[in-house]
Amino acid sequence: MIVVKDLVKKFKDLTVLDGISLEVERGEVVAIIGPSGSGKSTFLRCLNLLETPNRGEIQIGDVKLNAERYSRKEANALTRQTAMVFQHYNLFKNKTVLQNVTEALIITKKMKPKEANEIGMNLLEQVGLAHKADSYPITLSGGQQQRIGIARALAIDPYALLFDEPTSALDPELVSGVLAVIKEIAERQTTMLIVTHEMDFAREVADKVIFMADGHIVEQGTPEEIFDFPKHERTKKFLQQVG
Ligand code: ATP
Ligand code: MG
Repeated sequence: MIVVKDLVKKFKDLTVLDGISLEVERGEVVAIIGPSGSGKSTFLRCLNLLETPNRGEIQIGDVKLNAERYSRKEANALTRQTAMVFQHYNLFKNKTVLQNVTEALIITKKMKPKEANEIGMNLLEQVGLAHKADSYPITLSGGQQQRIGIARALAIDPYALLFDEPTSALDPELVSGVLAVIKEIAERQTTMLIVTHEMDFAREVADKVIFMADGHIVEQGTPEEIFDFPKHERTKKFLQQVG
């Protein structure tokens, strides 16, 4: 389970997360929606300590951390619980597709190359790119690169996957292939938090939808509750604007 309690993040005087509390069950798929600047990315980045939260508690699986006092060991343990898929795929340009996927297995998990390659090829098959194993990222489309980013995140078999607008940098015709891969992973009971502007996708894939505005969770519920019967004016207004 993921349990976040009263998470606060400030950039100088600007309070970007103003007491976020959230529970995510194991295997649950959560879509996070909300206007630009509402704190969605900052929230994901706090969960893996890419940003340092000022206050609050984060528990991911069996690792729990208090933002006001934690050791390096606890921080490392927490960051190992998640893998993040970014808007821009951040692949290693000088490594092949397969090497990109196996890097963490060999370096962090100290796996033998043969075993890592087997796992890597299996993951590349899952994202439909086994035939590109020996290619270099630069020779692939944005959608293919993003699918490798996803395979790389899956390789370390984290407790939860964090996606920050995984399709927003892609040309429109490449979006559906990436969403299909994410949907397939979601159906395997993987715990996932997905920040997305793709409302149809959120409705289809999410067990729970969270609407954020101004550093708060304004409301959360099933896709039907949020998209068909939003309770708050702020949510209604946002959905009218994006719909
Ligand atoms: P978008 O939908 O545009 O990606 P978001 O909901 O992901 O928006 P965040 O990127 O989390 O929003 O930003 C929330 C607020 O925090 C914004 O006002 C942003 O300007 C501010 N912010 C984010 N990162 C920093 C930073 N490193 N330093 C200062 N302010 C920041
Ligand atoms: Mg963002």
